[in-house]
Amino acid sequence: MSETPMPMRARAVIDLAALRANVTTLRARAPRAQLMAVVKADAYGHGAVRCARAARQAGAEWLGTATPQEALALRDAGDTGRLLCWLWTPGGPWREAVEADIDVSVSGLWALEEVSAAVRASGLRARVQLKIDTGLGRNGCSPEDWPELVLAAREAEAEGLVRVTGIWSHFACADEPGHPSIQAQLRVFKDALGYAERQGITPEVRHIANSPALLTLPETHFDLVRTGVAVYGVSPSPEIGTPEDFGLKPVMTLSASLASVKRVPGGHGVSYGHHYTTPGATTLALVPVGYADGIPRAASGTGPVLVGGKWRTVAGRVAMDQFVVDLGGDSARVGDEAVLFGPGDRGEPTAEDWARATGTIAYEVVTRISNRVPRVYVGENVNENEIAEDVDQS
Ligand SMILES: *Cc1c(COP(=O)(O)O)cnc(C)c1O
Repeated sequence: MSETPMPMRARAVIDLAALRANVTTLRARAPRAQLMAVVKADAYGHGAVRCARAARQAGAEWLGTATPQEALALRDAGDTGRLLCWLWTPGGPWREAVEADIDVSVSGLWALEEVSAAVRASGLRARVQLKIDTGLGRNGCSPEDWPELVLAAREAEAEGLVRVTGIWSHFACADEPGHPSIQAQLRVFKDALGYAERQGITPEVRHIANSPALLTLPETHFDLVRTGVAVYGVSPSPEIGTPEDFGLKPVMTLSASLASVKRVPGGHGVSYGHHYTTPGATTLALVPVGYADGIPRAASGTGPVLVGGKWRTVAGRVAMDQFVVDLGGDSARVGDEAVLFGPGDRGEPTAEDWARATGTIAYEVVTRISNRVPRVYVGENVNENEIAEDVDQS
């Protein structure tokens, strides 16, 4: 990674070599299962197309997205491997998804009916994965309605409209090791699998594990693990451990170029509301990113930033486009790099540090970085006939 800041206001450097290494590490932790790299929400803010391609290069058999639009965008970008999307609403693009060879999740009869109607008389056969709510209380078919959904799916298979390729579920508390809901959900999942199999459903893949389950609960791996946050080298929770504990490397480094550095006297108010006042004569540095870039306003007075080799703290409020740090009298030059978070190799804070400082989870810290911040890709696999470093301004 370059030590000198690039001449842009701010950038999120995305280390695709780290991402590929993370996928390799994660595959080794689930040796009997296939791996699905979850690239929803623009790959948790890292850039879906580039990250999907890197994950495939490292052997991800599956990609996963929440919305069908996200899945279709990957097809438009040229991805041809197995791909599942799960967040459907009535009237969704079932026909387009089936034509694009996307596996679609079905959590209720209405969805099975819509996808069946979309392919009826087309000669197409939809690949559907039945989702059971084993206790998360979010999406998925309730255990009471499961027999009805399974029987309807069998009928749709018999009619040649669908093929049930998967049965799956999602954990509520896999990031809290030892939580009693984990075993309870596994029991419900196994019952649901048993029922479906007795009715003649023969899924290719049974899956329930997300990143924390992949990392800590081998008995949950089944045929496929769906891993998102760990692919990006971010820890699912402090209870699970740090990325390094699992040999994972953070993929995103967020930095900005100082836009102003100036001496001010003691007693000088800083930023909206004057919630920070300089305790004495000092140097203030202006970091030109704000909440429109995805910097949480909750970082006001708390967010850590590396400037000139030292950790500083956001002084006063985070504004829409900028915030200030007090350099405590140290000097700096405009254009110097302020590193908000990264792998920590250069002493910078991590996404986990930002999560702790702002009362959220590291997932949100990386995912919310907005499109105003250009992504700069490094470590692209050069076999791919592309330049190794380039900027996506979209
Ligand atoms: C987001 C998501 C995942 C990935 O979760 P991580 O904790 O990031 O690994 C897996 N499955 C479903 C259904 C999801 O929505």
